[in-house]
Amino acid sequence: MKAKREAINVLYFGKFEYFCISNNIILIAMKVMKFGGTSVGTAVRIKSVGELVCDGERNFVVLSAMSGTTNKLIEISGYLYKQNNTGSLEILNQLENSYLRVISELLNSEEYKQKATAYIKERFDFMRSYGNKVFTLADEKVILAQGELISTHLFYYHLCELGVKCRLLSALDFVKTDRYGDPDYPYITEALTRIMAENNDVSLWITQGFICLNCYNEIDNLLRGGSDYTASIIGSVLKVDEIQIWTDIDGMHNNDPRYVDGTRPVPQLHFDEAAELAYFGAKILHPTCVLPAKLNNIPVRLLNTMDPAARGTLISNYMEVGKIQAVSAKDQVTAIKVKSSRKLNSHGFLRKVFEIFELYQTPIDIITTSEVGVSVTIENRKHLEEIVDDLKKLGTVTIDDDLVIICVVGDMASDNIGFQPKVVNALKSVPLRMISYGGSNYNVSFVIRAEDKQRSLELLSQELF
Ligand code: ASP
Ligand code: MG
Repeated sequence: MKAKREAINVLYFGKFEYFCISNNIILIAMKVMKFGGTSVGTAVRIKSVGELVCDGERNFVVLSAMSGTTNKLIEISGYLYKQNNTGSLEILNQLENSYLRVISELLNSEEYKQKATAYIKERFDFMRSYGNKVFTLADEKVILAQGELISTHLFYYHLCELGVKCRLLSALDFVKTDRYGDPDYPYITEALTRIMAENNDVSLWITQGFICLNCYNEIDNLLRGGSDYTASIIGSVLKVDEIQIWTDIDGMHNNDPRYVDGTRPVPQLHFDEAAELAYFGAKILHPTCVLPAKLNNIPVRLLNTMDPAARGTLISNYMEVGKIQAVSAKDQVTAIKVKSSRKLNSHGFLRKVFEIFELYQTPIDIITTSEVGVSVTIENRKHLEEIVDDLKKLGTVTIDDDLVIICVVGDMASDNIGFQPKVVNALKSVPLRMISYGGSNYNVSFVIRAEDKQRSLELLSQELF
């Protein structure tokens, strides 16, 4: 076997990796499998993930931190910023104990129990060592990285104990961002291709989601929920056949199952539809994950660890013509209306409005305009006061809080379906603060009051599905 392995040359030829064994070229498929926090949330769940990844195919596994860990690490950082060592130690010790319990349930042999315990102790001693220093943002990033480092190590020990041949790769050796915080693709491609060539005697690789190096070579991350992004970046660089995002729900549902009964998973979505849904509230997929996969034409499949046989949702560049696909909702939205105090339709007004949001680095979600003014919605209220103050130089400003964006997604471009009347009709009894249509071919969005959310989602489900 070893001799045979040594005779194998790995060549990257775009979509597939060709393994050349003497004269026979074998085409071997590969996929990225990403598992979220709840999928690795307990010892039992970690064992199920172990079974799923050992399916005889070539798999690159990306793991989140065990559920709850990242929030705890943020809480710990909060105490460290305040130099409250007692507070940080208390949570660190609790968290360490919870990991020791996971080890006792996950691993059987003394050898691996000892290895894992030593690893946990080392990581927690390291975190405890921050108690006596001035704590910085860079330190917080290092603390946050521990969750994914720990989950992948425990998973790796579990597979090794079972005798599974696999490699644990450190994401810090190949996932890197540039000075804009975007993936540094030339670097990632070079590093990952090299690392894969050095580790080509296995067909299972494991790495951390979320964590990366930034352009200063400091430990950083891809923001909350960023493990999906890691999976998409790796999948795109390796040109895999499929990127699988495993969670605890059977795909993207056609409405929010927390609010509406009888929702169903959507079997197929276009990347642009999925991006709208992810951005406007569907928690199952991080919106950043869509673009790399779309550009490289790599399908993303959303699957359920609790029901692996379920079909899930396949996201690709294929568009189902004339279909209303799904509804999602984004909470805690603020709308800002600026009524121009100058002559109507004066040019340059919108630019001045947008410049203010840019100055305070506050993204705008939805825009509607009229002859007299403009309304925009934002989610991030951090600089609301300054923004409003500046906008008052341009006109009369009104703020509406506690709003919700309802986003209906589907193929709006086909002209024979009567899609918009149906959607608007469904909401005829709901006061609408804003309507946005025509920004893309895939979505119509409404801004409503939070108290009307439940009713609106139900009405849309009744009318559309
Ligand atoms: N652990 C990180 C978070 O909780 C990243 C992720 O799970 O995707 O945000
Ligand atoms: Mg997630």
